[in-house]
Amino acid sequence: MYIPKRYGESKISKCPFCGKDAFSQNKQKIPTCKEHKETTFDNVKCLCGSWLDMREGKFGVFFTCINCGAMNIKKVLEIATMTRQKEAKIHETRQQEKMQMAAKPVSYNE
Ligand SMILES: [Zn+2]
Ligand SMILES: [Zn+2]
Repeated sequence: MYIPKRYGESKISKCPFCGKDAFSQNKQKIPTCKEHKETTFDNVKCLCGSWLDMREGKFGVFFTCINCGAMNIKKVLEIATMTRQKEAKIHETRQQEKMQMAAKPVSYNE
């Protein structure tokens, strides 16, 4: 398979964890900022619910899912961000529920 070179892409990668310019690289050879040098992509789940496998190819790090196939890091980041947002939302909802529960007068059966 012939993969054409892509031009016009910025040389400076963004840190996948915070979006800052990535001047460092973590253990997985993923460009990161200095602060996230020690942060790695662990336990990233695909949208289908399977764990993603990290691989290193000619063109850098990529991930594979047993169901969905290969995915580039950008896609995985999107998934990770989405998952994080979803989890934050669930957390928020739970907090709200808790507050509502607390606000309700508790009635005991005597
Ligand atoms: Zn960072
Ligand atoms: Zn998948």
